[in-house]
Amino acid sequence: MAQCDLGTARRGIYDGIQPDETMHLCTHGCRYKLTVKHSIGRDEVVEISDLTKDISCIKGVGEKRARLFNKIGIYTVEDMLYYFPRDYEDRSKIKKIIEVLDGEMVCVRGTVFSRMAEQKVRKGLSIYKLILKDDTGTITATWYNQKYLSNTFSVGETYIFYGKISAKYRKKEIINPIFEKDGGVGKYTQKIIPIYPLTSSLTQKVIQSVMENCFAFVGSNLKEYLPHAIRKKYNLSEINYALKNIHFPDTHEGFLKARRRLVFEELFFLQLGLLSIRTTSEALEGIKFEPVKELEGFISKLPFQLTEAQTRVISEIEKDLECGKPMSRLIQGDVGSGKTIVAALSMYICVKNGYQAALMVPTEILAEQHFQSFRNLFQNEEMNICILTGSIPKKQKIKLIDDIKEGRVNIIIGTHALIQEEIEFFNLGLVVTDEQHRFGVKQRATLASKGKNPHILVMTATPIPRTLALILYGDLDISIIDQLPPGRKKVNTYVVDESKRERVYSFIKKQVAEGRQVYIVCPLVEESEAFEMQSAVELVRRLKEDVFPNLNVGLMHGKLKPNQKEEIMRRFVEGSINILVSTTVIEVGVNVPNATVMVIENAERFGLSQLHQLRGRIGRGQHQSYCILFNTSNSKVARERMKIMQETNDGFKISEKDLELRGPGEFFGTRQHGLPDLKIANLFSDIHLLKLAQEAAINLIKQDSKFEKEEHKALKEKLIYLFKEKIDAAIIFKI
Ligand code: ADP
Ligand code: MG
Repeated sequence: MAQCDLGTARRGIYDGIQPDETMHLCTHGCRYKLTVKHSIGRDEVVEISDLTKDISCIKGVGEKRARLFNKIGIYTVEDMLYYFPRDYEDRSKIKKIIEVLDGEMVCVRGTVFSRMAEQKVRKGLSIYKLILKDDTGTITATWYNQKYLSNTFSVGETYIFYGKISAKYRKKEIINPIFEKDGGVGKYTQKIIPIYPLTSSLTQKVIQSVMENCFAFVGSNLKEYLPHAIRKKYNLSEINYALKNIHFPDTHEGFLKARRRLVFEELFFLQLGLLSIRTTSEALEGIKFEPVKELEGFISKLPFQLTEAQTRVISEIEKDLECGKPMSRLIQGDVGSGKTIVAALSMYICVKNGYQAALMVPTEILAEQHFQSFRNLFQNEEMNICILTGSIPKKQKIKLIDDIKEGRVNIIIGTHALIQEEIEFFNLGLVVTDEQHRFGVKQRATLASKGKNPHILVMTATPIPRTLALILYGDLDISIIDQLPPGRKKVNTYVVDESKRERVYSFIKKQVAEGRQVYIVCPLVEESEAFEMQSAVELVRRLKEDVFPNLNVGLMHGKLKPNQKEEIMRRFVEGSINILVSTTVIEVGVNVPNATVMVIENAERFGLSQLHQLRGRIGRGQHQSYCILFNTSNSKVARERMKIMQETNDGFKISEKDLELRGPGEFFGTRQHGLPDLKIANLFSDIHLLKLAQEAAINLIKQDSKFEKEEHKALKEKLIYLFKEKIDAAIIFKI
């Protein structure tokens, strides 16, 4: 990271700094974090608003603390102001001593009546007590192990105390209270105190006081970016008020007003982003496909009959493809509902129209599996199908790239490798992304940009309630496959704890003796893939040595080379591996009908939708399947979540519950959606505001789709800033 001061920057030190390089710029004791867009001339001055200044320019934030803030994603003053509390402690009300109740956290105003000498109860435990009075009664303030208090208080002085009340046997006590002298609103009492999420090594007090300093730094001069008309219509508070009151609300009403505005704005931005993508693509000229007369015959030769839902979705797709506009369609369907064949048939239409079709999937294993099944499916057709992943040998890859460019292959299946710069298509007509929640909007757009407005089909395996999908995938039309192919058996799911381990192992032995196969999924390790691999290796060793010495135990994890993965998958498919221990790499797509048991370790660590995905790997053949979830958590929420898994096999229901219990933060993290993280809105409980935000966004885009009006200028700036990392602003705003 380059560093220089503004003075030298002006004198042309920028020469030699490359575009996109991030650097810190210091001036007047402030540090700015900048990304170089282009070299500037000698005399140009860089203008930066207070908001984008580095957090270290705030009082109380030195180098070391700045780094701790960085760890929780806070780099600038703006990041800080938008780091919202997860909760509040209401210390605003002062109660009379006579009114306080056992167990409550509350403020009392007390005059010191008498002080007791500190008592040493035993080694390591001392107690200090004060007797306090107001005009209604007496209460004892008790502190444990707080030596420094002995000389703090004088009899007759009045303080505000905040702490937990214990009221037993008519004796009232306030335990370990925070306190400050009476007189005006205090720093720690008589107000609502914010509690911040995830603080690394920063204490709540530090964050609170840095936050106060931030407000002192920016004053109340933040520029309003929501158009006045929208604020008025939807009754939204002004930005300075909203930020101040979300952090330091004066009253509960103040907090509600602030939250309403900030939730609205967050959802409004999300909608604007999505709708802008949509209007941009709708205005484009698309490729008009002709109906393919061979399609019906091809479908009739499939080894199974399409479900009604599949047939319906295919005809929706056909309509899109033939209308002359680029299609942007999402297929939602539960695991196993048969999305792949729908994609394959769409690609068939595309190729028969003389265009190339590409399918992008998140893992190499999945790419290989699709490649095999597409080759089978189209074996009697004159179609060239190829696979492109990161691990293809260089020489082969060069040839492949050439084949794609010259149009010698018709169907290209691959991973992220497809969106590399060097890949050019001859005439890309259709882009399909599978398991879309793993790709961002940006990646999808990048792939699409390799053709001239190709049709886009997105398949998601995490079904979400329709109302929500309509809003969250505002840039796409939606088709739903709401029917499973006939003859599917429900997977029996059991939630167990450690005490059942032996029984689970003997159950596995029994199933294997009957010829079945088993998946054991390792716990999700948040820290890193390397850790996850380690725990998998360890588990396999234990199982091989101690538990299943006579069985073949295989190991699959993300760090294996693709050919190793393929080899293991091949051995599992052909049945020579009985038990496959795996990290979550098997989550998507893999199809082994003979596998009937799935054991998931530390199931409570997974999201419900992810568990449902994993479980979708079994129950694919004619034998009854069993999913066994080890839950090691005692928490109520964990138990509740596990129970849902046990009770239902419906992916839509599961994701709805997941949303309700976990909150959307995790559910729609950037990883899954590729859009700005939701910081404050709760898609479940704020559905009403979500609808209003959508309405506002639709109206605004109707009036001024390019944000050209004067009153939308500030909004446009804000949007570009918000979206710039996530989606190419160019894609949205054509700039
Ligand atoms: P997903 O929707 O999870 O991607 P797949 O497309 O992988 O599901 O389909 C799961 C399995 O169901 C595959 O083996 C596929 O061949 C099979 N299948 C798909 N459609 C039908 C159908 N209409 N009838 C019977 N089997 C089907
Ligand atoms: Mg699939």
